This record gives sequence, C-alpha cells and structure tokens, in this order.
Amino acid sequence: MVDSTASTPVSLDASDGVSLLHRRIHEYVAGEPLHVLLLGRNETTEQLAAAVERAGYRAKIVDSISHLLAREEPNTFAVVINLDVISERQHQWLIDLAESNKQWPVIALSQVDTLSIRATAVRMGGQAFFTTPYEPLRIVSELDALSERFERDPYQVLVIDDQQSVADYYASVLQQAGFITQTVVTPLTELMPYLQNHIPDLILLDLYMPDINGQEIAGIIRQMDNLISVPIVFLSCEMSPRHQLRALCTGADTFLTKPVRPADLLSAVESRIRRGRSVRNLVTRDSLTSLLNRRETLRRLQEEVARNHRYGHPFCLVMVDLDNFKFINDTYGHAMGDRVIVHFSKALVSSLRENDIVGRWGGEEFVLGLCDTGPEGAQQILARLAKHLENSSPGDNFHYTFSGGLISCSVEHNVDSMLEIADRCLYQAKKEGRNKFVVHRAADH
Ligand code: GH3
Ligand code: MG
Ligand code: MG
Repeated sequence: MVDSTASTPVSLDASDGVSLLHRRIHEYVAGEPLHVLLLGRNETTEQLAAAVERAGYRAKIVDSISHLLAREEPNTFAVVINLDVISERQHQWLIDLAESNKQWPVIALSQVDTLSIRATAVRMGGQAFFTTPYEPLRIVSELDALSERFERDPYQVLVIDDQQSVADYYASVLQQAGFITQTVVTPLTELMPYLQNHIPDLILLDLYMPDINGQEIAGIIRQMDNLISVPIVFLSCEMSPRHQLRALCTGADTFLTKPVRPADLLSAVESRIRRGRSVRNLVTRDSLTSLLNRRETLRRLQEEVARNHRYGHPFCLVMVDLDNFKFINDTYGHAMGDRVIVHFSKALVSSLRENDIVGRWGGEEFVLGLCDTGPEGAQQILARLAKHLENSSPGDNFHYTFSGGLISCSVEHNVDSMLEIADRCLYQAKKEGRNKFVVHRAADH
C-alpha cells in the first residue's frame, strides 16, 4: 500500500479544460485566509458579508462581473450571488462563464423560489440556493462544507488497481488537484485492513484484476454499512456497454473508460465526493454546527468504548453544557444564542484532536469523546478550552462559560452508564456554581 507522497508531476493547465475550481485548489496557499466573493450589493449582502467575516473568512462584495473576474486572491473558493440585485444580462454572462468552466462554486440568494430562478442558479454553477430572508449561519455552514477540503478535511480517494504504474498515475493527477490518495494494488491482502480503519470519500476501482475483480469488490463494499454512501467509480478499458452496465449493477456510481483525461477524472471525482459528503452530513451531522448529531455521536461512542474494552486504550467521555444560556437568549436574542452555539462548536473542534468525538447532544449540550486520553489529560483540555473562551468572543466582546461532567472509561462501563454518570457530574458542577467541571471518581458509584 502506498500513501500520497510519491508523485509524478502531471500538467493541469487551463487549456486542459480543468475548471477554475480545480486550479484554485491547486494554487491554494496554506495558512492564508480563505476568501468569499459576494456579487450584488444591498443590505442583505452587507449583513451576510459581516457574518462571513465573523466566521473567519475574508468577504468582499463586488458590484460587477468584471470586478469579480479581476479579483486575484488565490484562496477564493466560493461566490455568493444575490440574484435579486444583478441584471438579466449579468445572469446570462454568469451562465456563459460557468459553461466555459470559469466559475467558482456558487451559492445563490433570491427573494423568489421558482423552478426557473433555481435553474438559472444551477446553470451559473449553483451548489446551494437560499430564499431571503435566510439565516446567515446556514450560509456559513454551506461555506464550511465547501471549504473543509482545503484544511480541515481534504477529500480522500482510494485508488484500487493491480498495476502500480496506473494506480500511481491517477493518484498523482488527484494529488495535484489537492486530494489525498491511497493506492491499493493487491486488494486481496491490503483492502480489508485499510477499510477497517478508514472511510474514503470515493473509491476509484479497476474492473479487471487477478484474484478478485472490481465488480466483486464493489459488491463487498456495498454490504458494509459504514461504506454504503461512498461513491465507487470504475476505471477500465472495457468498452462494451453491456459489460459496463453489468458492472454498475453492483452499486457503483459510474464508469470511466481508460485512458481518462485528467480534467474528466477530476470533475467525475469532485462532483461525486461533494454529493456523497452532503448525503453523509445530512445523516450524521447537526445542521447548525456541523458537529456530529446525537445518533452518530452514540455510534462513535460505542466504537470507542469497545476499543477501550478490547485494547485498554484510555478514553474519556465529557458532557458539557453552556451556562445560563436561557439568560443569553432572553437578554441578547435567539440569533445571538445561535452565534454562541456555533462559536462554542468551533472552539471545541479546534481544542480537540481530529479523531476525537465532538457531538451536539441537543440544545446547548455537547458530548465529547477523548481518545487515548486519561482523566488528567481530559481536565487539561477542558481547562485550556475555558481559558480560550475568556479571550475569544462570538461578537461585541460578549463572553460565556460552560460546565462539564467527566468520566474515564473502564471495563465495568458501557456507553449508557458513562452518559448517565457524566450527566450526574455535570449536574453537580451546575449546583456548585457553574463554570467548572466535575470528574467522576471510581469510588463514587
Ligand atoms: P444552566 O446554566 O443550568 O445550564 O442554565 P441554562 O439557562 O443554560 O439551561 P436551560 O436548560 O434552562 O436553558 C437552555 C435554553 O437553551 C432553553 C432553550 O430555549 C435554549 N436553546 C436550545 N436549543 C437552542 C438553539 O439551537 N438555539 C438557541 N438560540 N437556543 C436554544
Ligand atoms: Mg445550559
Ligand atoms: Mg441544557
């Protein structure tokens, strides 16, 4: 098995038909802020620009399409188009741009919601459509989904092909466009260990291989619950439509005939990953914060508790609740309440490690699963988070606190008992005056 480091350069110039989106990923400058352009100035766009900035992006309102095209920040990753403000002629211009692959992903806003205005938005490259008045935080979540590939969560593709050189070639094309790749050349021995520990965003699968063919592998993958929504793209020299169709019957998504042009490969992969992720996010994530929802949190906790019982790796569960949140809502309004929830969610994600569990349990209550972490480590993380919140504000220099209940996993516990104990500890923290956390001691039962 080979990871994504080895690569042969593949030219991806514009004349190859690679869309601006792909070139932008290629040119992405790590550590620099991500930019969002907003086309069409009015009060709505101005409020939205402020919300986008608060979320940590750079937002620029532009008044014309020539201004839009003239902006050169390499880290621009999306355009918000206010369809109510721009003219019919500009609509057509944007459609032409999208058709010639010169458009970023578009989020469209409009006062009206008709099929024809939605069709216009889609023709412009629209990925999402919102009718005004809308909740700015929903648009920020959409931007988070479009930008996660750059830093937080790059798209991961598993390439399965028995010919190393072919696998390396496609992996290299994908890497150059910002994807993380993994290649498997002997699936019989390498594939199961990989899939037991990773969920790729897409599987690129050769059809004809010795020992086990692509169609059989697709059939096996479709029987695995956690991989059911992962798109599978066949890559093969097979030209016969009958054979192609038969291969697709196992649940694969599409068929690309070798040799595939880099641009075709990228757009086939990119669009399917984005849709696959949206479907997975709808099922597993909370819509306001993009944290894991309650069901997915529970599923992940079961996995980690089982791992703790099997291998003895330390694992801590923390139940967290924002203090006096009703007061925040009542005093500053529900929108401010939502902003606090989103701010806290981001603080949680940035304080924890990538494989930790961060779930929204309900309202202003969160459940954390800290992997390979004992009670002392967990307390340090919570203390650091509390300190961070003293110096960071969701806006207007406003500050809030949280309380927590913490339990470290051991063989006598299951997820239900841990949740119950963490909840009791949390209740005690509230009783003792809030802005603190209580740790369960084994003798406390
Ligand atoms: P304590 O310190 O004891 O936790 O008090 P509290 O006020 O935080 O707790 P309480 O359970 O009394 O109130 C929680 C409030 O959170 C009530 C509910 O209306 C509000 N809430 C729940 N979900 C959301 C949400 O998604 N957005 C906003 N803005 N408010 C929410
Ligand atoms: Mg509360
Ligand atoms: Mg509560």
